[in-house]
Amino acid sequence: MSFKQPWDIEVKFLKGVGPKLAEFFAKADVHSLWDLLLFLPRTYEDRRTLHTYSEIQQLAATDSAVMGVGLIEKISRRSTGPRGRSLTEAVVRVLDPGMRGEQVMSAPAGDPSLKLPMGGTLMDPRIVFTWFYDPGGGIEKRFPPGTTVVFRGKAQIFRSIVQVSHPELQKSESELPWWEFGGFMPVYREISALSTRVIRKIMAQALGREEVRLIEETLPESLRKELGLPPLKDSLRELHFPKQWQPTGEPVIPAGPYLQRVAFEELFMMALALQLRKSEWSNSAALQRRKVPSFSTLAPGRLQGFLKKLPFELTPGQRAAIDDIMRDVSHENVEVPMHRLVQGDVGSGKTVVAFVAALLMMDENFQVAMMAPTEILADQHYQTFSKLFPERAHECLLLKGALSVKQKKEARSALSEGRARFVIGTQALLTDDTLFDNLGLIIVDEQHRFGVKQRILMKGQTSGVSPHLLVMTATPIPRSLALTIYGDLNLSVIRDKPIGRIPIETHLVRKKAHLALAKRLAKFLEEGRQIYLVYPLVEESEEMDLKDVQTAHAEWCAEFGADRVGLLHGRMKSKDKEAVMRAFKAGETRVLVSTTVIEVGVDVPNASVIVIEHAERFGLSQLHQLRGRVGRGSTKSYCVLVGPDKAGPTVEERLQIMLESDDGFRIAEKDLEIRGPGEFLGRRQSGLPGFRVAHIMRDIGLLERAREEAERILARDPELTRPEHQGLKEMMQRWWGGRMELTLSG
Ligand code: ADP
Ligand code: MG
Repeated sequence: MSFKQPWDIEVKFLKGVGPKLAEFFAKADVHSLWDLLLFLPRTYEDRRTLHTYSEIQQLAATDSAVMGVGLIEKISRRSTGPRGRSLTEAVVRVLDPGMRGEQVMSAPAGDPSLKLPMGGTLMDPRIVFTWFYDPGGGIEKRFPPGTTVVFRGKAQIFRSIVQVSHPELQKSESELPWWEFGGFMPVYREISALSTRVIRKIMAQALGREEVRLIEETLPESLRKELGLPPLKDSLRELHFPKQWQPTGEPVIPAGPYLQRVAFEELFMMALALQLRKSEWSNSAALQRRKVPSFSTLAPGRLQGFLKKLPFELTPGQRAAIDDIMRDVSHENVEVPMHRLVQGDVGSGKTVVAFVAALLMMDENFQVAMMAPTEILADQHYQTFSKLFPERAHECLLLKGALSVKQKKEARSALSEGRARFVIGTQALLTDDTLFDNLGLIIVDEQHRFGVKQRILMKGQTSGVSPHLLVMTATPIPRSLALTIYGDLNLSVIRDKPIGRIPIETHLVRKKAHLALAKRLAKFLEEGRQIYLVYPLVEESEEMDLKDVQTAHAEWCAEFGADRVGLLHGRMKSKDKEAVMRAFKAGETRVLVSTTVIEVGVDVPNASVIVIEHAERFGLSQLHQLRGRVGRGSTKSYCVLVGPDKAGPTVEERLQIMLESDDGFRIAEKDLEIRGPGEFLGRRQSGLPGFRVAHIMRDIGLLERAREEAERILARDPELTRPEHQGLKEMMQRWWGGRMELTLSG
């Protein structure tokens, strides 16, 4: 193809963008013209009609948005407060919307003696604009008396005068741009300083470009017709500037055929990419004729032997997961290495399942590597293993951070001499490519934290054998989604929890009730309980949040005594983290002020109270994970969510779900519904890149269909080499290729 495609055009070269704005766009992952087209509006505004004065009066009575043409008759700014506060007011004569140019000039002149509003009344057809701040300065200079403007804003009646505060203004001498008025106009999510208005203008101009007019249809015509979906190009245009729109009161764009078309594109391309990747893996394994580790004979008593050593009986769910694993690695299945995902709610006991699998492998003389998302967790797994299987502890090796040459050498010799067979660590395991020579099993804990890239890396670094892969996650996703996303993984679900767990009592308190909370916590401490106090650490304002935790730590130290309160966050040195965690585990510190570094996996049974500050800033699944830090011992546990004093209905609804449910699966579904999978699974790290358009709960039907269609196409053309599939293949690579680490050639 000789002409440029929308993805070949960097956003900074678009009209009205430039390097500065391009930086803002990059924050929203908009890098190319194509990305821009996929940056869909949140909703639309009805800007079809300019209102007359009497319509404006009526609309103002219900505090509604108005739009009209007006002549500025008077405008002035005066200071109203000590700190440079000012009020700018304009008296505006509303003109007949049909009026333009000379007509405006010859319209009846205003009464020059009119007083500005406080107290007075204005004659028809005049209204007032007010600005309580003027950040740029000089509104009155930009819109001097005599200027004709098109205005838009929420109108209200104040002392029987129609007022519009902070109106959107556009000088109207020149032709009005079509993207401002005269139709249904998109409202975008603002990106930093990029207002919806600026984005709208850039979008309108971008849509006129040749590359957009030349966007080719990717779906085979027959399939598109069968699905009843409009062409891709038309859909993109309609989504930004629709010809029809029915306001629903909800701030979402309608899930009509245009949105479905683009969502289908996204899901279909994902399904294709995933299936291609899956066959790529199995092909490469077959090509290299790798050996797959398997048990020819498994002495029947051996599994029982491990289980007898455990201080508890396995739950039926744990047993079933172990059975699944045994089946995957047993003799009949030697052709294909295991690819299994174990899902189980927080506290359902996934670790021990992994350990049993590890022991089985180790006894066949294979090495086992277990990756945890944090050092704290790797540490804990190492300790747990040593505690549960003390006579095997010497075979287990903990690897963290960057290893020195000497440590590497030592680790390698321990492995090669068979002194160690089980390596537990973090991602650091990935960077050491020569540690293993007979790796039989890779265990990845809390899979949603790892990218696909890492999974492939791990698989790639072993030679000789194709190791089995066992992935564990506490973030359950609906089965149909799992099948699509983890098309390459089989699924075991642990639905039950160990018996005898006392349900956690969850409370929602308000920020303003802090004093009462502090008192209650003091009482909990007296009872001998240990407490987590969790503060959010979100990416955008990490520095500030970090201060927040540190300040909080200081405050709680003052409250409970510095020697009893520990502080833990991700920026600390690994040695310090370890020390803090150990002190808390040993009960030396009683309170742990922490960021979400404790979110996954951490297991301190004596900690029976968790307080989550700014609960509104966490996702539901994250709250559930955090809550899962308590309720692990024999005493009743409490989870206190500290919410904002005043919250909007969606926040309130979300927090309410936490009070109602303790079922991680239900919570995850709710969370998915509310946030969509991109956010839900943790954007970058998830291994599943976020969707830009599709919404997993809304589009679940489309997803199934996309999977079927992808299968059907690949059955006929397994590598998409046919000429009629070239457009499809290119689109797939554009959409998902880079993000899924596809290595397809040509
Ligand atoms: P998760 O599934 O969240 O990773 P863990 O593996 O950390 O859960 O297990 C949580 C706690 O439950 C641990 O203290 C573990 O020893 C304990 N546990 C695991 N299985 C059982 C069981 N069958 N009966 C009782 N306690 C168990
Ligand atoms: Mg765990």
